[in-house]
Amino acid sequence: MATAVKRREMFIGGEWVQGSGSEGQAIINPATGETIAEVPKGTEADVDRAVKAARKAYTEWFETVPKERSEMLLKLAEAVNTDAEELANLESANVGKPRALFLSDELPPCVDNLRFFAGAARLLEGKAAGEYMRGYTSMIRREPIGVVGSIAPWNYPLMMAIWKIAPALAAGNCVVLKPSEWTPLTALRLAELSADIFPPGVFNVITGDGQPVGAGIVRHPGIDMVSLTGDVATGKEVARAASQTLKRVHLELGGKAPVIVFDDADLEAVNTWVKIAGFFNSGQDCTAATRVIAGPKIYDNLLSSLTKSVQAVKVGNPLEEGIEMGPMVAKEQLERVVGFVDRARERGAKVLVGGAPIPGRGYFYQPSLVTDVKQDSEIVQKEVFGPVVTVQRFKDDNEAIAWANDVNYGLAASVWTRDIGRAMNAARRLQFGTVWINTHIPLVSEMPHGGYKQSGYGKDLSMYSLEEYTNVKHVMTAID
Ligand code: NAD
Repeated sequence: MATAVKRREMFIGGEWVQGSGSEGQAIINPATGETIAEVPKGTEADVDRAVKAARKAYTEWFETVPKERSEMLLKLAEAVNTDAEELANLESANVGKPRALFLSDELPPCVDNLRFFAGAARLLEGKAAGEYMRGYTSMIRREPIGVVGSIAPWNYPLMMAIWKIAPALAAGNCVVLKPSEWTPLTALRLAELSADIFPPGVFNVITGDGQPVGAGIVRHPGIDMVSLTGDVATGKEVARAASQTLKRVHLELGGKAPVIVFDDADLEAVNTWVKIAGFFNSGQDCTAATRVIAGPKIYDNLLSSLTKSVQAVKVGNPLEEGIEMGPMVAKEQLERVVGFVDRARERGAKVLVGGAPIPGRGYFYQPSLVTDVKQDSEIVQKEVFGPVVTVQRFKDDNEAIAWANDVNYGLAASVWTRDIGRAMNAARRLQFGTVWINTHIPLVSEMPHGGYKQSGYGKDLSMYSLEEYTNVKHVMTAID
């Protein structure tokens, strides 16, 4: 178990290094409040060192063919799979995730994602080749962009690291990854697992804060593309800073997913999936089922069944079997959730279930269900990123769609009805990158994930993601 406090190092150019600064960052177990590790607080000098290592590695990495990169990614997938228990220990201790749920629901898609991009690396193709002007042949090449700076959040540290590095490496780029300052342990473990697989400098991990490390990556002239998963405000900051060097920017930002429940929906199914999708990972999920918008006839029954379900969510020690929800990731995140619910209550919302932190060790919050919320209220409009689900009653289909779309986010939404025409019409009108019908939350490696509106731009997962990490080049030859 990862319980002893241990100073870890960064992984740059295939070596473990202390970092140029002397300061360390304590890594906390949110279930207990205890320090479980320490990592170096990176500096701009560390960013520079990592970028130089990646640039050096890129000259050779550029020469690799897809089969070679594919085989390395398959080896990494195998290594991650074999290391499941250790990764589960680290992720559970660092994020407070129920360990068993990490093993059943997070690790397998991580492995699958590496395997998918290992395969996808061999399928990249230009769309056309031929003669488009007499006497000339044209072809399209898909080339790597160069060195990608990947900046990850804390909610799914291993999964987000893999979503970022797998397509980037598959396409032939080198990567400098910065995990969240709160949750660097599994990214460092991933580096350890990759050390004998990739040539030195192809994959680097540096630890530290958004400032100066994240911002240093965005500013650095040796970084060709920045891929961020994080908050909308961070996305805006990154896009602004990246404009100075006109780097390509890929932004996977926040969400506020609506769950539209029409009167003819299967109530039991809605109930089951809201319990899962609203409270998995303590609601710290960008696609979490946060806003239930229910039809006039189903509303009362849904509310009473949801009340029972939310009361039944098993919260507790993430190491215990059967636990469905652990703590918030950090004290700051707990305070954020407390603030949202308290302000909603002051402004007239009714808290039907939960609505308070759980006393004792760690940063636990009660699974919560909130009603009587106005469409323009903060708790409906802003991402809480905690175990809080609101329920609103709509009067007709148009109002349901209008409320669902009436937020700045556009990451994911779900629609619940037995009427296929109604479902398809709603799917067409919803301004979200993913629309689920009669389910909420499943993702697959083959299909894209990414936002509309202020949820960002660019896609993770799928061939769309692989293409994002490439440049399109037109090569034209005179053939006369
Ligand atoms: P955050 O924006 O605070 O931090 C994300 C990363 O950006 C961290 O590594 C942080 O150190 C770094 N960072 C902070 N300021 C920076 C700057 N100025 N320049 C460069 N890097 C900087 O987000 P978070 O709190 O770690 O994560 C939660 C957010 O992530 C939520 O909004 C959630 O919805 C979003 N998220 C989105 C997706 C998605 O796929 N769209 C997935 C997971 C999480």
